[in-house]
Order: sequence, then C-alpha cells, then structure tokens
Amino acid sequence: MKSDYGLSVWGGGNFEIEGDSVIVNYGTRPALLEIVKEVRNSGYKGPVLLRFPHLIEQQIKLLFGEFERAFDEFEYQGSFNAVFPLKVNQFPNFVSRVTDASSSYNYGLEAGSKAELIIAMANTPLGAPITVNGFKDKEMIVLCFIAAKSGHNITITIEGLNELETIIEVHKEFGINFASTQLPHIGMRIRMHSAGVGAWAKSGGYSSKFGLTSTELLIACDILKNEGWIERFSMIHFHIGSQMEEISPLKKALREAGNIYADLIKMGASSLSSINIGGGLAVEYSQIPKSQTRNYSIKEFANDVVYLMKDISQSKGVKEPNIFTESGRFIAASHAILIAPVLELFSQEYHEKSLRVKESNPPLIEELFDLYENIEKSNAREYLHDAIDHLESLLTLFDLGYIDLEDRSNTEILVNLIVKKAIFLLDTKGREDLKQIEDKIQEKYLVNFSIFQSLPDFWGLGQGFPIVPLSHLSKEPTQAAAIWDITCDSDGEIAYNSKAPLKLHDIDVEKEEYFLGFFLVGAYQEVLGMKHNLFTHPTEATITFDESGEYRIESLLEAQNLMDILDDLDYDIGIIDKKLKSNIEESSLSEEEKETLLGKLYLYLSENSYLKTIQASRG
Ligand SMILES: *Cc1c(COP(=O)(O)O)cnc(C)c1O
Repeated sequence: MKSDYGLSVWGGGNFEIEGDSVIVNYGTRPALLEIVKEVRNSGYKGPVLLRFPHLIEQQIKLLFGEFERAFDEFEYQGSFNAVFPLKVNQFPNFVSRVTDASSSYNYGLEAGSKAELIIAMANTPLGAPITVNGFKDKEMIVLCFIAAKSGHNITITIEGLNELETIIEVHKEFGINFASTQLPHIGMRIRMHSAGVGAWAKSGGYSSKFGLTSTELLIACDILKNEGWIERFSMIHFHIGSQMEEISPLKKALREAGNIYADLIKMGASSLSSINIGGGLAVEYSQIPKSQTRNYSIKEFANDVVYLMKDISQSKGVKEPNIFTESGRFIAASHAILIAPVLELFSQEYHEKSLRVKESNPPLIEELFDLYENIEKSNAREYLHDAIDHLESLLTLFDLGYIDLEDRSNTEILVNLIVKKAIFLLDTKGREDLKQIEDKIQEKYLVNFSIFQSLPDFWGLGQGFPIVPLSHLSKEPTQAAAIWDITCDSDGEIAYNSKAPLKLHDIDVEKEEYFLGFFLVGAYQEVLGMKHNLFTHPTEATITFDESGEYRIESLLEAQNLMDILDDLDYDIGIIDKKLKSNIEESSLSEEEKETLLGKLYLYLSENSYLKTIQASRG
C-alpha cells in the first residue's frame, strides 16, 4: 500500500501527492521538488526553507471568515479583530507577508518585548491594532506612548499593578500634553481561575506568571478612576496556553473572562469594550489517521467564543464585547517547509556486496548463509530466532579469539539482512517482540540539516512534525527510518517510533537525490532555533504565484557564511582573516601553492556551514 504520509490528517488540502511527487495545491500545482531544484540550481546547497505567503493569507482569511460567519449566525453586535503575536515568527520575509495580507482585514501585530514593539510600530498599518503584552519597563511604556502619539491604535496589556503605576508616571513626565485620544489604550490581563492547557499550561491558571488577580483588577480600576484614565481602559485579556488540543478549557476560560468583563463594566469601567482571548488555536501535526490531536474545528472554536460571549453579555445586561484573538501558530505553521537532502543511508555497510566470503567459513556462518538464502514467509519466525542466536554465539567466539574480524563483519551483515527480510515477510502488528526488533533495525537517514536549528520543539518538547519525502511517492516505502542530522550531538536524531512509524524509500543516494520535507515549521521553530555546532538559519526562499498561476522564487536569502557566523559570536574576524592568511603566506610553500590554498580558503569562507557534498552530486 502506498503511503500518503498522513496528508489527509495534517495537510489541510495545501499539498497533495500526485504521481511520484508532493505538489503545492495552488496555481499550476508545482511539485515541491521542482521548486527546490530551481533554488539549488542557482547555487544554493544544503537545507532550504520555503515560505508560501498564500498559506499565510489563507489562514488569516479562514480566521476572519469563520468569526464573521459566526457573528452573522448569532447576530452578534461586537466586532472581530485580530493581531499576530510576533514571538511566533519575527522573520522579515514572514512579517512583511503578514502585513501585506492584513491590510484588507485591519489585522495588526502583538509585541512582547521592545524589539518586537519596534517591528510592530514599523509594520502595522496606522489604525490596525497593536497589543503589547509581557513584562514592561518604563522605556517600553514610553515607546508605547510614542506609538500612540504617532497615530497607532495601541493597547498596553498590563500584567501587574506596578506597570499601571509606571504608565501613570510616564504620562505625567512625558505625555501630559497628549490629547486623550493620543494616549495608549489600557488592557488588563486577567489571572485565570481555570487552568491552562498542554505543554504550555503555565500561561494560564492561578500560578501563572502573568495577569492580575480579581483583587488586583479592582484595585487597578480604582487607580484608573482616580487618575482619570478609566476612559482608556478598553480591553481585558487572557491566554490559556499554546496548542490547545481540546476546546473545553477555553470554554471555561471564556465564561470566567465574560463574567469579569460584565462586572467591571457594571463597576464603572465605562470604556471597556473588548475581550482578547489570546492564542492557542491548535495545529494538527499528527501523521496518523485516527489519532488527531486537535478535537475541534475552527468553526466550532468560533461558534463557542461567539455564543458564550453573547450568552454572558445578555444575561448580565452589558454590551457584547468586541473580540480580539492573538492566534499565532494557527496563522504561521503551515506557511513554511524545511526541505533537506538525504546525504547517506547508514545501513549500507550491511549490504550483500560488502560480504567477504572465504573459501571456508566457520560452520555457524555457513548456516547464516543458508538461512538467508532460504528464508520465506512460512519459516521466517524460526529463521529470525536462529539468526539472533547465531549472532550471540558468533560474537562470543570473536571475543574468545576463535573467529576473525572478517568473520565478525560477515556475521553482522548476514544477521542484519535476515532480520530485515524476516520483518518484511512477517506481520508485525500486535507483536511486541517483532516490533522491538524492527525498532532496532531501522535505516538511519543522514540528512543535511540541524534539528537544533530547524526543529527545536522536537528537541525541547518532543513535538513531532510531518515528514514526507518529496519524490518516489508512487512506490511503497519499505524502510523503517530514523533521521540523523549533521550535528555531532547524539540528540540530533529523530528515532524510529513504532507508534508513529516513519517509512522511507530504499534509495541509492549515489545515483539519485532524495529530499525530505519537514512540514508545519512556520510557527516558533525559526527563532527558537539554536546555532548548535554553528549551523545557522537555513537558506530561505519565498514562493509566490503570479496571475497565471506560475510560481516565482522571491527573496532568496542564503544561510550565513562562515565569517558572518563568527562575527555574530563577536570574534574579531579581521584577526581571524589575518591569521589564516599569514599562516599560508609565511609558510615555505611555493607562490603557486600559496595562491591555490588562499583561493580555496577564501571561497569556503564565503559559504555557509551546511554540508555541500559528500559525494560529488549531493549536499
Ligand atoms: C504566545 C502567545 C500567543 C500565541 O499563541 P499561539 O498558541 O501561537 O496561538 C498569543 N498571546 C499571547 C499572550 C502569547 O503569549
């Protein structure tokens, strides 16, 4: 049976398998392989991150569309607004596409630090919302005042009472002559009684790092009233955590926030008009049918939010709040794919052609030959067990000096071949013993990328990402696969997992190229990526589609070259340059030899750190 690599589970119709290849289900439906080859033909080797802005736009449209539909359906009075939380992806070639797509929706940005605030101030169209969360110092609040005064619609979400005091202080020192409409809006993050969700549960709940308790909310309202700021208090905010797999914690949080909203209005927060429900809308990463991790649809999500807000507002007799969301993962994840070439398969030393058959082999090895030649479905279990027994015996014989290194190599090859054949012949379903063996004999695919740089959430949280080969898809994949990256860290591995088995094709990388696509990597991975071993952010390209549906490669940005990487670590690259050069120039080599060495050296210094080639054609 051909594998669809779970596309029907996680793919959202964005990609399809057609013939041998994965194609982009858009425009003229180009194959990903074709795009990657074009990028590589312009000289860029190593892993490539492809961005698809049409998928960013699609997600924004979906989010707004579903809420607008729900608003109509429930005859909801408030407005729908959204901001993109920059911490999910701050890379310029992503952010510029978000803001391109956002102008038709009045879609803004959310900032959690001063640097993110600067991005928001420079990229958000005037009038579109900016929200500012996280811990803030006086300087950050001054920046918010500057943004407001220069025409931005900005809301400072206060996380603690001290921030409110700082706002009032900044106002007195700096903004005293600002018209009230030139001041930032105030939001208050509420510390939820209901707990947060998932691996990110710390974002919500009583023990959360963030937000005001109900007592603090009341104090904050008093301060705002006394200081004449209550008119600027427009929003309450909560965020229960990322990758919310179930909808029920959100519903609980919505009830809690809805009641707080209504009560604050009744107590005199006359301008309070919005509830910001944070992010958390989940992405389906599972590659296995029937094991979806997200148990709700975007439609259900929108319906629940709108229904609950309407219900609470009606029963408490207040105006229905405008709704803000800060979904990040949902908007960004699907837009980026990391594509990396397989460099080598690591059980090739276990190939028949590597056997060194002698005139006379030890009897147990002769038996292994027999087992290998005669194994078939009916005897596979028995032969498998015999082979494993023989392996133990032969290794003992080696330790005792009775067989030599060539015999030992033949043993390893033969046993490996027999086990693989047996597993192939047998049905491993429900057979724990066989599965354990299967787990041990996977093929290791060495892939030209760094897990630490490109899939940090796999390393840090065990978050799986869909993996699909870009070619060979009309053939059944036969190899249980583990993935090795090129860092020299043993954590740089995606081990084979029999619960979510990855099967890849048996290929000869000396003869043909084989690329793996790692999908849904557009959220969080890029900026969390670490330069372990000094592998940096990969080469990236943005793929757009013109009117006739043809794709275009834009904004090609090569991974940093070696000297820039060292410069970033604050090495004095002038000194490095001089040292490398003088080592060669002051050597006793001939002028011609010096020239050759220097030529090569400077060529390589200008290239990135990913592998170019192992054999001539790859990398
Ligand atoms: C991280 C974060 C978000 C985004 O969460 P997603 O799960 O990516 O949607 C939204 N709001 C706040 C306050 C956050 O900290």
